[in-house]
Amino acid sequence: MISRFAPSTTGEAHPGTLLAALLVWLDARSRGGRALMRLEDLDVTRTRAGWADQLIEACSWLGLAWDEVIVQSDRRAAHEAALDALAAAGRLYPCSCSRAVRAGGRRAPDGGWAYDNTCRGRPLPAGGWRAAADAIRARLDDDRVELIDDGGLDLSQTPAREMGDPIVRRRDGVIAYQLAVVVDDRDEAISDVIRGRDIAPSTATQVMLQRLLGIATPRYRHHFLLLEAAGAGKLAKLHGSIPFSQLRTQHDGPGVCGILAHAAGLRATPAPCAPGELVGDFDWQRVPTADRVARWTAAGLIVDP
Ligand SMILES: [Zn+2]
Repeated sequence: MISRFAPSTTGEAHPGTLLAALLVWLDARSRGGRALMRLEDLDVTRTRAGWADQLIEACSWLGLAWDEVIVQSDRRAAHEAALDALAAAGRLYPCSCSRAVRAGGRRAPDGGWAYDNTCRGRPLPAGGWRAAADAIRARLDDDRVELIDDGGLDLSQTPAREMGDPIVRRRDGVIAYQLAVVVDDRDEAISDVIRGRDIAPSTATQVMLQRLLGIATPRYRHHFLLLEAAGAGKLAKLHGSIPFSQLRTQHDGPGVCGILAHAAGLRATPAPCAPGELVGDFDWQRVPTADRVARWTAAGLIVDP
């Protein structure tokens, strides 16, 4: 059993990042498996090397040790080979439809706008996908994916219609998340993908890409998220309100580990603890499915019950 914690390096680590890391690590360690960290740093417009370093440091501070750390940008050749394979199978096409063209159309399961595959008939330029000035999409089969994850979450979808064919290489040349994730999971022999529920609507698209590339589908499990206030009484996935640099001014690693373990149903109180103390009786049955709200107070991090 090999699992991975795969954060994007587009911002500071925060309690939500650390919760995801802890759950991946505990799941793997409690089953005698390997746990890797993969730094997803392909989006050169948003990533910073300092944030990658901080993610490594934050996990270590929390008490997590990884069997291996992989940097996604080192894997360009494998990503390009996958694009070549898709091109050889006649699956790639250029698309110049802007977000504005899709806006106001159909809502996709991830809350964005669905793409209607309008450019499917367009050929690649003479030089292939590398020579295309537009974004490149992969034509999926129009099949329905039937999939229930290990936590019972129904991920079934017809991604080609509900989401639209995915972009696999962006207009600016960046390899898109949906492609990189399936290629990297294959090459790292990932058997179990444990990740936050915000990514669940992308799973069917990833399964369809796996099928096009002849990749076995791993097991999936999507866990609850930490949320933050997002104005007008709304909540959103925790993002920027409690950065690691602030967290560590008031807490140490065992302190935050205890708060997260309590939020995840693994401890009766938020008293400090080490991740290793949680391995013995780790059980997903104890982990709640409902998202929780994290707040910063005079006493530091609080996760609402
Ligand atoms: Zn298009």
